[in-house]
Amino acid sequence: MASLPGEAAFDPAARIAANLRARIASQGPLPISVFMMEALFDPMAGFYATRDPIGAGADFVTAPEISQMFGELLGLWAAQSWQDMGSPESLVLAELGPGRGTMMSDMLRAARAVPGFAVALKVSLVEASAALKMVQGQTLSRSAMPVGWAKSIETLPAGPALIFANEFLDCLPVRQLVRTDGQWRERCVGPHPEDEDRLAFVTGPVVPDDDPFIPPDLADSPDGALIELRPGDAQVIDALAARFAVSPGHALFIDYGPDRSEAGDTLQAIRAHEKVDPLDAPGTADLTAHVDFAMLARLARTAGLSVHGPVEQGAFLRGLGIEQRAAALGAARPDQRGVIARQLHRLVDRAEMGALFKVMAISAPGMPAPPGLPANAA
Ligand code: SAH
Repeated sequence: MASLPGEAAFDPAARIAANLRARIASQGPLPISVFMMEALFDPMAGFYATRDPIGAGADFVTAPEISQMFGELLGLWAAQSWQDMGSPESLVLAELGPGRGTMMSDMLRAARAVPGFAVALKVSLVEASAALKMVQGQTLSRSAMPVGWAKSIETLPAGPALIFANEFLDCLPVRQLVRTDGQWRERCVGPHPEDEDRLAFVTGPVVPDDDPFIPPDLADSPDGALIELRPGDAQVIDALAARFAVSPGHALFIDYGPDRSEAGDTLQAIRAHEKVDPLDAPGTADLTAHVDFAMLARLARTAGLSVHGPVEQGAFLRGLGIEQRAAALGAARPDQRGVIARQLHRLVDRAEMGALFKVMAISAPGMPAPPGLPANAA
């Protein structure tokens, strides 16, 4: 960035480091959730606030950026779900954390093939990053459909809705607890004991055993165990429960994580497609943790919502016809067949994204199962 003579260039990483040091000095070691919020979403210097991190030349690649087939199939899934809801005259088509807007753009293109569907749509995006909102606006200007932004799930337009979220839950801040002498303690970020310019993980205050975010199957973990709690999940579920109490809809979550709660540290930092130390230069790397689908489903059912899935991404996309779609694209562009086959492989193969990524719908009470997902009554 250009700077005026005598003025220091703005250094986002230095700002985040200074913010963290100041907070630690006044409040003591910070829970990992607070550290993640600062590093990812500080409005001036946070990782998402300052850049477009998604794509081959950037920090990480997501399913919609691998292939147009991903968004197209979700567009058809949306059209089918709309018909199953009785084709309401108006439908909110929302996306949480839309990244570059690629998935929504591919969904809308596919949606046009279904008579009456596109005209019913009110497209609304929930995005925390000003930088990515700009990219979304550019991408979606090509779709010639009005697009709006809402600040949160709570403020999306009212009415029947289909809500999509790909790799959104994984960047909601997590807490970590460590079992020490028969008690849970908050794992925190504090000063490094040997180098004041660096940060270190430290053990913080005791957390009561009946903390409602502790997954029940992990409550009796042995000393040394580390578990992750996801307070953001409960906020998402509360917002969906409020909305789905008055109007029908599904929220479709696609993310990576096991289908049962597991102990272990899954916090990871990715910069330029490489895993790096999460505490190294906060604000310059993406921070994520595995989604706990079992806990998410439990919270949803407790709130009176219906749950469908989770199923593995590979099986879900195959069920929606991704192989036929790949064959059709390859027939239209024989020169691209190899590329399309590789994209298909990355999305569905069990050694690639096919098994680690799961798809789960959280739905208004009593909604029929949406395409490709069985009812989950566990
Ligand atoms: N869904 C996109 C982007 C995934 S990256 C894709 O698949 O390519 C995560 C996205 O969620 C980014 O757009 C990020 O800015 C956004 N995000 C993360 N936490 C958010 C929050 N609390 N509120 C709104 N957007 C958020």
